[in-house]
Amino acid sequence: LPAIGTATRLLAVFGDPIEHSLSPAMQNAAISALGLDYVYLAFRVTESELAQALAGVRSMGIPGVNVTIPLKQAACALVDELSDDASDAGAVNTIVNCDGRLVGHNTDGQGFVASMGDDLGLDPRGLRVCIVGSGGAARGVAVRLARQGAHSIAFAARSADRAWSLSSLVKGRCPSCATGIVSLCDREQLDRVLASSDLLINATPVGMYPRVEDSLGINLAYLPKHACVADLIYNPAETVLLREAASLGYRTMNGAGMLAHQGALALKLWTGADPDVGIMRSIVLQLGG
Ligand code: NAP
Repeated sequence: LPAIGTATRLLAVFGDPIEHSLSPAMQNAAISALGLDYVYLAFRVTESELAQALAGVRSMGIPGVNVTIPLKQAACALVDELSDDASDAGAVNTIVNCDGRLVGHNTDGQGFVASMGDDLGLDPRGLRVCIVGSGGAARGVAVRLARQGAHSIAFAARSADRAWSLSSLVKGRCPSCATGIVSLCDREQLDRVLASSDLLINATPVGMYPRVEDSLGINLAYLPKHACVADLIYNPAETVLLREAASLGYRTMNGAGMLAHQGALALKLWTGADPDVGIMRSIVLQLGG
């Protein structure tokens, strides 16, 4: 890190727990490569403390912060303005302090699409997508894919209620994208959905460290030969899902690129500089994979 002086600006991530966050290592590496006079630190902030912490951001003129689990939804109501991406995602992961006015952004969906371009050479336009899971990450990714021209999105989920509401939300925001739901228990229907998908995305924590041998039990052989499989998980770097997909000859990507790109987009929003995503991704894989 460059010498810290009175001109050094603070950036931070708030969350609870925060001990395992890769963001400080990833952001400080990018800041150092850019030669910027910033330092990025992690703070444990609970949901009930978030309003106070953001008041501190305003009063101390901190240029920006990331917010992570469990603060992403709560932050929506505490900022002064939401970007379209944050409003689409129903969650904020990046806050920019514009002279005391806090603007909430969400760079997760854009981060996923950028990573998809890098890792799989895929463009969302015309894609038929099947997303497993219907939580926060699925929402951000789905609306972004729909906004960028995905042909259709099927949500495969264990609970129909959340999947239905996500399916109608995406349809409401992007009427040109067809949406539907399929139960993870209805194997026959799931196999039919897989057979007409170009991209399968795991947006559940199934297979994440430490339960690395957990599997969704999806029969990947029903996917067309040209299909790709993405997992939002980056630890381990190769989940059971990605291992099975690769062994069947499908192109795969993990969540490291998404994490690096969402961080790079946040750093650009705060500083205007273009970070080296490769440096950020290598930190994620080194520390988290
Ligand atoms: P979340 O809001 O808690 O949603 C999790 C979703 O997974 C829910 O729809 C849940 O189903 C489903 N699920 C959980 N366990 C399941 C199981 N055993 N079988 C089937 N479905 C199951 O979590 P999130 O924030 O969306 O995160 C999801 C994943 O994305 C996590 O692994 C997270 O690490 C990853 N992620 C990665 C990045 C990145 O930058 N790479 C960013 C954000 C998130 P119900 O609706 O039935 O509860």
